Amino acid sequence: MRLDRFLSKRPEFSRQDVRLLLLEGRVRVDGQAVSDGLCEVSAFSRIELDGQVLQQGYPARYLMVHKPTGCVSATHDPQHDTVLDLLPAAEREGLHIAGRLDGNTTGLLLLTNDGQWSRRLTLPGSKLPKIYQVETAEPIGPEYVETFARGIYFAFEDLTTLPARLEILGSHSARLTLVEGRYHQVKRMFGHFRNRVTRLHRESIGPIRLDQALQPGQYRPLTAEEIACC
Ligand code: URA
Repeated sequence: MRLDRFLSKRPEFSRQDVRLLLLEGRVRVDGQAVSDGLCEVSAFSRIELDGQVLQQGYPARYLMVHKPTGCVSATHDPQHDTVLDLLPAAEREGLHIAGRLDGNTTGLLLLTNDGQWSRRLTLPGSKLPKIYQVETAEPIGPEYVETFARGIYFAFEDLTTLPARLEILGSHSARLTLVEGRYHQVKRMFGHFRNRVTRLHRESIGPIRLDQALQPGQYRPLTAEEIACC
């Protein structure tokens, strides 16, 4: 929300008051004086007027998890362990998943309580590359490269996948870069060649790479640099 809207919603200030407060440099957002009413604030912003706290702002949290197989990318599930169960109970509050993985997919999963951040990350328009390591039941042929680059028609959604980059690493292994996240996309792309994916692992989302020090099931907070890149 815009800062001027945030202030105008308070019963004590008219629009004219808000303009003056801002012009006089009396409003601070996260410790910085702000005079531009268009400045975006959120529930995480600390907002002060003349040193009085109008909104405390609650801490935004961003975690990377090395998702193991066998837990589901959901915040609640009546039957299975979820990725949130990998965290101590006190740390789960308010978190949601930014970009799901299938139950048997491993690798980088991001958790946050910042909806704006996760929306930016997962919006189709963001085109952030997501890199997967893939192993398959049948050999991967050179023709896959061209087909994946051209796009594959998904009849259910009536769409053609965006150009994807396939690097063949071995007879049954490859690295695939996607710039979108359709339902079971990797498995369905290999399914086009009737080739079953036997192992799928996400290495990275945009510039955020799975930390090699994290064992399956472990997690760590994102660094300020990782948060700022999305
Ligand atoms: N594509 C899939 O098929 N599964 C995943 O978990 C992620 C991408």
